[in-house]
Amino acid sequence: MLSLVRSEPNAFTPEEIELAGLLGRLVATAVQNIRAYEAERKTVDELRRLSALRADFVSLVSHELRTPMAAVIGSARTLQQRWRELTADQRESFLELIAGETGRLAALIGDVLDTSRIEAGTFSFRFGEVDVGQLVRDSVATAQLGQDEVRVLADVREPLPQVRGDVDRLRQVLMNLIDNAVKYSPEGGDVEVRAYGEDGLVRVDVRDRGPGIARDDQRLIFEKFGRVSSGGLARPGTGLGLFIARSIAEAHGGVLEVVSAPDQGSTFTLELPLDGAS
Ligand code: ADP
Repeated sequence: MLSLVRSEPNAFTPEEIELAGLLGRLVATAVQNIRAYEAERKTVDELRRLSALRADFVSLVSHELRTPMAAVIGSARTLQQRWRELTADQRESFLELIAGETGRLAALIGDVLDTSRIEAGTFSFRFGEVDVGQLVRDSVATAQLGQDEVRVLADVREPLPQVRGDVDRLRQVLMNLIDNAVKYSPEGGDVEVRAYGEDGLVRVDVRDRGPGIARDDQRLIFEKFGRVSSGGLARPGTGLGLFIARSIAEAHGGVLEVVSAPDQGSTFTLELPLDGAS
């Protein structure tokens, strides 16, 4: 039995010393066990995340890859088997369909690769001086060339300071925002892309008069594979574009946000610091 009476006021008994040692070993073992448990829990979480990603990927592949692939294979076969009986116009429309669908496939594969690089931390950037005004004008011209159902307007408020950034990645962000704005606009609608300098930042607003996005959905759309019904409009897509766009904005030390409400349209704002510091 442990004696609680000390021989000298400040000296510990051998039993107390042994007990302290035992307690120390017990605490050390407990800490080790907690750490092992934590590591195991992290591995399980990571496995769960990977498994969810794989499930997302499988469903993406079945929906988004199969449809364009079937169209490409079908059109190529038709052209091969019925070349002689088809008119020049019919051949032209099959070729157009093949070009359009393979373009969609290439964009989809690009998005999937970008996403896996972002997750792996190997998404690379080449920083230089970027003229955001020029980038806005170029992106608007490209969006306008690709379709004539929606009018896309550039409004660059000069003088606009240059920012430090990766011009190709920033173009990717703008094209994604403008393509979405066009995709969700009613026919004959306007999309406005406004660039301006404010508080030592450069901001680009992409505004549309589409169905808008409910407040509860506004977080989800920036997540990987995050898609919502957007006023009941079913549009093709993967739900990866805004996830990639926000990652690029953040790698520039910037932000990408949305202000929207149902039936009020949407305004996506890309905000970039001048020095590209992250
Ligand atoms: P995708 O367009 O390929 O589905 P995004 O990540 O670019 O992927 O967009 C995610 C979702 O956000 C879209 O599926 C759509 O529901 C919603 N969204 C994006 N932009 C708009 C917009 N301008 N108006 C309404 N909804 C939008």
